[in-house]
Amino acid sequence: MSVDPPRKKYRRHEEEKDSDSDDNYVPYVPVKERKRQQLSKLGRIGQLKDEQSKQKSSSENDSNEEDEDKEKVWGRKYNISLLDQHTELKKLAEAKKVSAVERQLKKEEEILEIVAEKKALMGVSELAKGIQYSEPIKTSWTPPRYVLQLPKIRHEKIRHELRILVEGEEIPPPLKSFKEMKFHKAILDGLKEKNIKKPTPIQVQGIPTVLSGRDMIGIAFTGSGKTLVFVLPLIMFCFEQEFKLPFIKNEGPYGLIICPSRELAKQTYDIIQHFCKYLIKHNLPEIRSCLAIGGVPVSESIDIIQKGVHIMVATPGRLMDMLEKKIVKLGVCRYLCMDEADRMVDLGFEEDVRTIFSYFNGQRQTLLFSATMPKKIQNFARSALVKPVTINVGRAGAASMNVIQEVEYVKQEAKIVYLLECLQKTPPPVLIFAEKKQDVDAIHEYLLLKGVEAVAIHGGKDQEERSRSVEAFRKKQKDVLVATDVASKGLDFPDVQHVINYDMPDDVENYVHRIGRTGRSGNKGLATTFINKSNDESVLLDLKHLLMEAKQKVPTFLAELCSENEKYLNLGDERGCSYCGGLGHRITDCPKLEALQNKQASNIGRRDYLANTAADY
Ligand code: AMP
Repeated sequence: MSVDPPRKKYRRHEEEKDSDSDDNYVPYVPVKERKRQQLSKLGRIGQLKDEQSKQKSSSENDSNEEDEDKEKVWGRKYNISLLDQHTELKKLAEAKKVSAVERQLKKEEEILEIVAEKKALMGVSELAKGIQYSEPIKTSWTPPRYVLQLPKIRHEKIRHELRILVEGEEIPPPLKSFKEMKFHKAILDGLKEKNIKKPTPIQVQGIPTVLSGRDMIGIAFTGSGKTLVFVLPLIMFCFEQEFKLPFIKNEGPYGLIICPSRELAKQTYDIIQHFCKYLIKHNLPEIRSCLAIGGVPVSESIDIIQKGVHIMVATPGRLMDMLEKKIVKLGVCRYLCMDEADRMVDLGFEEDVRTIFSYFNGQRQTLLFSATMPKKIQNFARSALVKPVTINVGRAGAASMNVIQEVEYVKQEAKIVYLLECLQKTPPPVLIFAEKKQDVDAIHEYLLLKGVEAVAIHGGKDQEERSRSVEAFRKKQKDVLVATDVASKGLDFPDVQHVINYDMPDDVENYVHRIGRTGRSGNKGLATTFINKSNDESVLLDLKHLLMEAKQKVPTFLAELCSENEKYLNLGDERGCSYCGGLGHRITDCPKLEALQNKQASNIGRRDYLANTAADY
């Protein structure tokens, strides 16, 4: 039995009707197209797509997908309301955005994976025997009993009030007074003499953490008081050791502090000496400390080591030298602190640090401190730490909020003359930073000619002159210190009113370190930075975002700078670049990483700080 399909009949009828009227002439539509239209009407776009995809090759690109998306949406318009279509379109756009974000994050993860440190920081014997420590070192210190009995919510409240971010397991409670930290009267007197009354946020959480024997990563802006976090507990530990069993000849050090520059090492050493002086005043056993840096005769260090040394403050170069020559051993060293750890890795001391680690032969408490701590360094650090507590006071990399940051466009040739005008902004002391040694010398000469009481330091000057200049500036005998970045890392000059950046450093982290020389200990400070066309756009973008974050005025010429990838700046839990910490770009566009990968940074020797690493340290 054969029956004609009714549809066919109907269509013929329609066609007949149409052909009657010339006005309604419809051109011929190919069968394929008619089928597509019909499927669209029925909302069976899936089937349509299947058919299409069968015809397409397997290597479809993004733009093809886009076309399909469009078809999908338009195909449905016959049976979906406008509002629904709009929602659908929005969803599609969102989905596309998410996948772009995912793609970017994945790419970043892959890059980080490549640059992250794989080799662990361990002693040779530990490596050879495969020893891995899983529990932190135990100390005799405990927080006051009443604090231990307080609910955890109280600790969280204090951290919240003081903007302390913590990460890690079983974090010791924050303590709001030095008394609660159970310091000896001698230490409390030493603090009083420095007019230090109550702990700063990094000290509130950091000191109990260190006293408890925990490994720690301390991220705090410059001038936050981080030095005391590693110095005071160490003095107490040494005192306890000496009390139990006095150090014999050639024994020690028990504690080792490594700094990236001689000046910072000397400053830390002086702080230790200050407190040790108070121990002696209280008739307590002597705690001996030794400064091991280039420019200081090794014989001075040997004298102290021979008596038995408790604390050694060193720069990597000199320390390596002394370890290799067996002048000093780390057999009994149980406390290691790396100050400005990110600088150390940045300056290429990574291998030295690794070698230094290999001289340890027992578990030690390891502390890493820095004002900036990009993820790459945190990863590097984690391999050396046991159940670390990360304490972050103020976002890592952020400039101190106490500094007013002014950025001015000054042409290259006008800079030196404009300096004089700029110096009028505040009373002394003023710090002027320049990237190149020649510029430091030129500025110094110019200021002397103009009758300004100025001194200068850079890596090309001998250690004696450097120390003399730093001391004269510190004691306020001189009004202005002109320096390269050797003076920007962790150095503490009291009451610096104004930091002038004669040029913008290539690296925004250096900018953060430089301006951190003012606005210290809760005082306000001013930073003026000269920029012009010669600056790299990437660093200017980082600067722009840093100013925005610190709620500072962004000059128009910076505000107008935009990067292609600005939309990605605040992706995931990472702000800006996970490699260098710059806020104006992502790791995918990191100029520092690019430079490193091209192996240019270490060879150029253009920047004074890098150029002098060998001679300096
Ligand atoms: P630092 O960040 O360790 O370089 O310290 C910066 C300056 O802050 C130094 O001059 C310290 O003497 C001072 N300082 C450290 N702790 C405190 C505190 N709790 N109260 C006031 N000033 C402090």
